[in-house]
Amino acid sequence: MIDRPMPQPGILKIAPYVPGKSQAAPGVVAIKLSANESPLGASPAALAALTEASRSPEIYPEGTSRVLREALGEVHGLDPDRIVCGNGSDDLLHLLAQCYLGEGDEAVMSRHGFNVYPIVTMGASAEIVMAPERDYRADVDALLGAVTPRTKMLFLANPNNPTGTYLGGEELERLRAGLRPDILFVLDSAYAEYVTSEDYDVGISLVNRAENVVMVRTFSKMGLAGSRIGWMYAPAHVVDVVNRIRGPFNVNRPAQFAGAAAARDTGFTEMLRAYNARWRDWLTRALSGNAIRVVPSEANFVLALFADAETSKAAFQALFDEGLIVREIGVYGIDNGLRISIGPEPAMRRLVEVLRAFGAPGARD
Ligand SMILES: *Cc1c(COP(=O)(O)O)cnc(C)c1O
Repeated sequence: MIDRPMPQPGILKIAPYVPGKSQAAPGVVAIKLSANESPLGASPAALAALTEASRSPEIYPEGTSRVLREALGEVHGLDPDRIVCGNGSDDLLHLLAQCYLGEGDEAVMSRHGFNVYPIVTMGASAEIVMAPERDYRADVDALLGAVTPRTKMLFLANPNNPTGTYLGGEELERLRAGLRPDILFVLDSAYAEYVTSEDYDVGISLVNRAENVVMVRTFSKMGLAGSRIGWMYAPAHVVDVVNRIRGPFNVNRPAQFAGAAAARDTGFTEMLRAYNARWRDWLTRALSGNAIRVVPSEANFVLALFADAETSKAAFQALFDEGLIVREIGVYGIDNGLRISIGPEPAMRRLVEVLRAFGAPGARD
């Protein structure tokens, strides 16, 4: 006899989430470079829309996030009926896992892939299958090699968090073409707004060409992380399935209007991309060769690799003492690296000064 309520199998396998630090030592002003938030805040148009819609908290949101889907449709040239919005893209990742995974199923992901994928997979009581990477980059052959008859889903963040690396359009297409049609390919383009590489494919054409590809996006990295707005573009049959299970008002009203305004403010997005690219390059050059290896990034952060875990920990502490909070990524299986978000210029300069003075020994290149 079971003497208490029991969760679904899989739930208790999930290690409780440990967030990155966000507070500095007493008396030190914290500069948060640990959550890949926007380096330039939010679009002024989005802020105005947020403020305006916040004046009517008594009104329910429109359930399908119509204003937001229409804005996204207009800006990205998509059919709004093939878009589903979520309370952040985490919401959509959970819903997709719940809809398409169950006990006995497997979901394939890359070794250093985004850590929400294991959570949603285990939450649906399915099994995680991790494919090895090549030098911190997803490997198409390894991903395809990890597929078994039980595989129902494949997750790929492109560019990936926490490595910042990406697969080009041709490799993505090779991955898609190699998957059985009953496997849902969840392509998470969370950092699309920051990519500058020319052979990048955000995923829209893949969704259009197949019945088993979903592109998932977020506003979190472009200034609206606190508003929790994500969206997905998917085949009609997937849209129908997810709409049956999602919360009927899963995106709040201010968020819908702020998201719509942010989507249309392409000038701000352009400015973000340019600022980020400039300081991403600068930071990569300034840190490289200083006993630190910086993995080439297409996102709004870089992964800095140190000689060993001990050095990485000491570097984290040296930065922390100065109020610069970066992300330790042991949970991703990388204990000798720190993920550093691109932030305001003074923070970038200070960070480089601290790491240079710190003089991490034992370069690894
Ligand atoms: C930040 C991030 C998300 C977005 O999460 P939200 O729930 O939209 O804030 C999704 N995927 C990846 C790879 C991310 O890094």
